Amino acid sequence: MLRFPLLALAAAALAQAQITRQPADLVIRNARIATVDAPEFAQALAIRGERIAAVGANAAMAEFTGPATRVIDARGAFVMPGFIESHGHFMGLGQFQRSLNLRDAPSWSGITRMVAAAAREAKPGVWIIGRGFHQSKWNTPPTPNVQGFPVHDDLSKAAPNNPVLLAHASGHASMVNAKAMELAGIARETRDPRGGAILRDAQGNPTGLLNERAQGLAYRAYNAYLARRPAAVRTADARAEAALAFKECLRNGITSFQDAGSSFATVDLFRSLRAEGRLDVRLWVMLSETNEALAARGAGYRTIDSEKHRLTVRAIKRSLDGALGSRGAWLLAPYSDLPSSSGLNTTPLETLRGTAAYAMAHGFQLCVHAIGDRANRETLNVFEEFIRKKRSKDPIAPPIPPGLRWRVEHAQHLDAADIPRFAALGVIASMQGIHCTSDAPYVLDRLGPRRAEEGAYVWRKLIDSGALIANGTDVPVEEIDPIANFHASVTRKSREGAAFYPAQRMTRMEALRSYTINAARAAFEENDKGSLRRGKLADLVILSRDLLTVPDEEIRSTEVLYTIVGGKVMYERGARQ
Ligand SMILES: [Zn+2]
Repeated sequence: MLRFPLLALAAAALAQAQITRQPADLVIRNARIATVDAPEFAQALAIRGERIAAVGANAAMAEFTGPATRVIDARGAFVMPGFIESHGHFMGLGQFQRSLNLRDAPSWSGITRMVAAAAREAKPGVWIIGRGFHQSKWNTPPTPNVQGFPVHDDLSKAAPNNPVLLAHASGHASMVNAKAMELAGIARETRDPRGGAILRDAQGNPTGLLNERAQGLAYRAYNAYLARRPAAVRTADARAEAALAFKECLRNGITSFQDAGSSFATVDLFRSLRAEGRLDVRLWVMLSETNEALAARGAGYRTIDSEKHRLTVRAIKRSLDGALGSRGAWLLAPYSDLPSSSGLNTTPLETLRGTAAYAMAHGFQLCVHAIGDRANRETLNVFEEFIRKKRSKDPIAPPIPPGLRWRVEHAQHLDAADIPRFAALGVIASMQGIHCTSDAPYVLDRLGPRRAEEGAYVWRKLIDSGALIANGTDVPVEEIDPIANFHASVTRKSREGAAFYPAQRMTRMEALRSYTINAARAAFEENDKGSLRRGKLADLVILSRDLLTVPDEEIRSTEVLYTIVGGKVMYERGARQ
């Protein structure tokens, strides 16, 4: 019973006031904060639990700072929303950390030496896996070679008792040795599988290079070997790889990762990691399963994690062609340096239509890998067909895009007529700035100057036409490093300093947006991620340099000082992780 109702009322009001002034868990002061929101810049922010409690001036933080509040004095460092990797292969990143890294190998003989060293350590029969080789980046061409690719003899000598599988940097071709070909059943009389090619020498013998779908022959043998591992070893391997991938993300300032194609089994793993609270980085996943498998089980996998925002599965991945480096990109006209070929269509259009119908019916985004101008046109045609269908079903449909947010992954080489179609259809261009600079050495050979200038990596033209671009690295095809990718996006300059059609650069702010709010939008997550505003998830990074003002040639020296996910410091430079 209350004898002094007025006093009780005052006490309640006081308690209320204390709740709104409840101290923050973390305050960051003396920073230059790019909010990617309004107002554009701030000095400080406060975080309570998983979310941002306030953004403002240093002085405004006093009321959020209690005895238990951790305060980080940023000393003028740059703060921005955490990087959202818009297109990467999460488990591939983990596996890459455990395989031979061939990216910086200077030559084919350098690679065969690395394989020989690995073979000396491996038991007979154990597969040796390498990733990231690129024949156009070697200082000397291999001899002998077929279409610029090496032949397997030296590789087979380097590892006579171990199957060897080396993935091309593009992910669209692989090089194998004799032991792997024996296990994969690849011989002189083996026919090319549909959508793929077994490269052969003048005598008709397989060289060891498998293009596009022909890689499946080797991967089948490798997967059979993996499947023979006891279940406990398999699970332990996958968990170890996921842990390595999380660590690599956090070290690089990635707070959300959009996984460009995983199986149901991998999503099962992600689900158990979520249940254990081990999803250190937020995952948004595209399912990579056949139409038949989706029809049977896909709906059960659709997950929109609107509470914790740790695991969302709401997209489907398809690949319409290969990559430019291995001449697998599907072009409208033949390759300038291989007039007999216009590339490869790796998924029949009817299959893609089946996927589109399923995605439309079950509320999935559809994400289609398209690199060549033909693949891009066909993808946009299919998207348009379904978007029109959706509009005609709805008599009061607005004349604006219906908000399916379907995506073209890579959108690398476009015919001029297709550039405005992205904005017109509301289709997101999920591009990789770093592909432009790392592909630059051979784009002109493959496409010739007219096509390269008109439509290769034309993010300026896309932005000007009103399209939304999300940025990423396609890791492990490229390093996950968002700083190097940002540099490529705003300079289009390679490490050697040559700029590839620099008129197509993004501005600094456009590049920042492509990696934050645009990426969030490309996943229907812009209400929770992608900018620093009160109420949003406290996902952010502190960097050593200001990405908006640092001179071009110093961008790459920028370091990640802190990575904060959901208000928790998950990486701190110099600290023991
Ligand atoms: Zn990819």
